[in-house]
Amino acid sequence: MLLIANLFWGCGRFIIANRITFAPVKDIRRLSFTELQTALSGMGEPPFRANQVYEWLWKKGARSFDEMSNLSKSLRHRLRSEFVILPVQENLVQRSQDGTIKLGMRLHDGRLIEGVMIPEATRNTACVSSQVGCSLSCTFCATGMLKRERNLEPAEIYDQVTLLNKHALATTGRPLTNIVYMGMGEPLLNYDNVMESIRLITSPQGLGMAPKRITVSTSGIARTIRRMADEGVAINLALSLHAANDAKRTAIMDINRSNPIDEVMSALAYFYEKTGSKITFEYILLNNFNDSPQDAEALASLCRRFPVFVNIIEFNPVEGIPFKKTTREKREAFVNTLRRKNIPVAVRRSRGKDIDAACGQLANKNRNASIN
Ligand code: SAH
Ligand code: SF4
Repeated sequence: MLLIANLFWGCGRFIIANRITFAPVKDIRRLSFTELQTALSGMGEPPFRANQVYEWLWKKGARSFDEMSNLSKSLRHRLRSEFVILPVQENLVQRSQDGTIKLGMRLHDGRLIEGVMIPEATRNTACVSSQVGCSLSCTFCATGMLKRERNLEPAEIYDQVTLLNKHALATTGRPLTNIVYMGMGEPLLNYDNVMESIRLITSPQGLGMAPKRITVSTSGIARTIRRMADEGVAINLALSLHAANDAKRTAIMDINRSNPIDEVMSALAYFYEKTGSKITFEYILLNNFNDSPQDAEALASLCRRFPVFVNIIEFNPVEGIPFKKTTREKREAFVNTLRRKNIPVAVRRSRGKDIDAACGQLANKNRNASIN
């Protein structure tokens, strides 16, 4: 039966080894709704069954088939024999003095990732990872020091959101209001899975969140930004800019060699034209590197092509990285230069620094610690 089922699905991507029996079984959450419908009708089930199972898998976040109480015992048994659910497991919870919660999470293959929940007066933001490690090695970033091990599956991104949502509810009494793809990894280098995770998070059959509450942060892959525009993906986009001329940006972000600033700006202008979505520039002020009045002028001149919001980010120290954060005086002068030119700008306070939960600090540092 299993063999027939595997031939039927025909795609090795769905098949993983079941450690106990060594029978090939499939991760059910890799199936689209249509594929699930086909599978269930192949088992002789009526059409509405797919809605029930799909709802259990996503909206209700079932972690085993036994939880699916409105299915018959025999169907649950059949599903268990042909599929697995591979939920992300909480591995470590750390709480910052400022209320930020960092979750270390274990994937089904034992790999570790991190996600963060940032509570604020009017919102709770989840910061999720899109890859295990990152291939891009930006010189200021702790994640960049890890090698990229693999992309995360849509369900693995989705699970981070549901786990962080539980912590938001438990600690603030309110659910998540916002999601930022600013954890480990470069989301646009895992485009298909990131887009599928957004579809699930925004779908009424999933978490039903508004796309406007979601921000994808990217180091700037021009071709993929254009693809998002063409596909009408109406989420917010944040560009990790950090330097406003090519020489400086290439020195800290290798991706700038193949995606120079002008190409990224044209792609963002196109994205704005097509979607009207909010675009943000993220800019870390690094002492004596990109914090001069000339740097501020150069940044201002990049803000003319489309409406953009500038987030000035405090540099979070990372062991082994020689950069320092700028001084308060230089930061104020930098911000004032932008304000005088009517560029909307905010200075982002760093959150969760004491537990290495701030931007750029996610590096599985406490990988061997156990859950508390
Ligand atoms: N790869 C994507 C998203 C993850 S990085 C990107 O680069 O945008 C999330 C954010 O943290 C980015 O804006 C990144 O530039 C920033 N960041 C990385 N290291 C940092 C550090 N040491 N201090 C402050 N921000 C940092
Ligand atoms: Fe990767 Fe983003 Fe860190 Fe650069 S800043 S190394 S793209 S996670």
